[in-house]
Amino acid sequence: MRILENVMEQVIRRNPNEPEFHQAVREVLECLEPVAERHPEYLKTGIFERIVEPERQIIFRVPWVDDNGRVQVNRGFRVQFNSAIGPYKGGLRFHPSVNIGIIKFLGFEQIFKNSLTGLPIGGGKGGSDFDPKGKSEGEIMRFCQSFMTELYKYIGPDIDVPAGDIGVGMREIGYMYGQYKRITNQFNGVITGKGLTWGGSLVRTEATGYGLCYFADEMLKANGKSFEGATVVISGSGNVAIYAAQKAIQMGAKVVALSDSNGYVYDPEGIDLDVVKRIKEVERKRIKEYVNYRSNAHYYEGCSGIWNIKCDIALPCATQNEIDKTAAEKLVSNGCYAVAEGANMPCTPEAVEVFLDNKVLFAPSKAANAGGVAISALEMSQNSIRCCWDFETVDCKLREIMKNIYKNVSKVAAEYGYPGNLVAGANIAGFLKVAQAMYAQGVV
Ligand code: NDP
Repeated sequence: MRILENVMEQVIRRNPNEPEFHQAVREVLECLEPVAERHPEYLKTGIFERIVEPERQIIFRVPWVDDNGRVQVNRGFRVQFNSAIGPYKGGLRFHPSVNIGIIKFLGFEQIFKNSLTGLPIGGGKGGSDFDPKGKSEGEIMRFCQSFMTELYKYIGPDIDVPAGDIGVGMREIGYMYGQYKRITNQFNGVITGKGLTWGGSLVRTEATGYGLCYFADEMLKANGKSFEGATVVISGSGNVAIYAAQKAIQMGAKVVALSDSNGYVYDPEGIDLDVVKRIKEVERKRIKEYVNYRSNAHYYEGCSGIWNIKCDIALPCATQNEIDKTAAEKLVSNGCYAVAEGANMPCTPEAVEVFLDNKVLFAPSKAANAGGVAISALEMSQNSIRCCWDFETVDCKLREIMKNIYKNVSKVAAEYGYPGNLVAGANIAGFLKVAQAMYAQGVV
């Protein structure tokens, strides 16, 4: 980096001990050098310095009482990163690894992802270091209510619209929405991922996974390949992984592996998704249970081994930095020709370099997993006009949005001297729209 190195240095100085945030910012700034050259007006008006600084960061105490009557205290976060093109929008993550650096990395990425959808949504993210694993229904509900009792002060359908992420599904959204409604006495589109009978959108549950496959399909087709007959490895077994697997199978692929944070299952005959849904969505158990239903399947402890499985296409859908250089090299040596990121930043910068150097088709998360937030924005639209679109209508819109993102990202990559590099294309295309808006709105 030449022109923007000072911006990066300032980010590191101002945000010590936040390696994920530094990683996310560095990747974007590195791609933006040619933009800085072509747009001196953005340098002059401090767009780069401003875009890396959240507009607002909220950190709050979340006290709740567990089933044994003991008081527990967690920490809640909401980072309202950028509202240049619309209200802040981004998920809530409940996971013990959550800290301000993780939320900032996710919120920063969200700015560009939301911009790429073509819809009017700004970037934000939030969550808590609460661990939902092993908690009773009552504990989950009390935690969600306490979390919302503070968060409601800072959100609103035209201010900031949270959604789900790791550890936050429809159940948690329900408890938080119920509390929001009780406190404010308002039924509005303040949160997305709602249930279908109370303002949710069809296809929202499937959106990120389906959108990932729609995006990957565009990328594959543009390079003379497809999901048809391909062997696919998917990490995770949550919302994104399950619906990515469903769409990949519908598109003719064989999905042979899924994982959770304890280990992975390998089913050489192809994963039976009905079994997975029963284990994960109904019984809320661990993925290792899968082998009790399928005699030819194997379970292995530890999640990194999943990338040693031979496959044509890899879809990392669990968490950040799950594919490192070694895993990337293994995938390449096993003949993997495409990687599409379902999780946020699941590949380390070194892994991405391995893929790009080896001409592996690579779809970065900002573009490839934007389907979830896109349908969340459509949920906001349906809430505003008080109507519900049918499944086919929303699914068609999703497909169209993912197609347009692919087209836009590839076109911009070529225009800025990075032909075929979707990482650069996504960062630049996402940035340009937000930068134009920030420029037009003056120094605020
Ligand atoms: P879920 O909570 O539904 O599922 C997460 C899955 O990943 C689980 O199988 C979980 O295993 C596994 N996982 C979580 N943390 C780790 C870890 N540290 N190491 C290994 N495995 C882990 O979350 P989602 O499917 O919603 O989210 C997955 C990824 O997709 C995240 O990066 C999220 O930010 C991203 N994303 C999600 C969107 C959505 O619409 N849901 C939209 C865009 C991006 P375990 O059960 O053992 O924890």
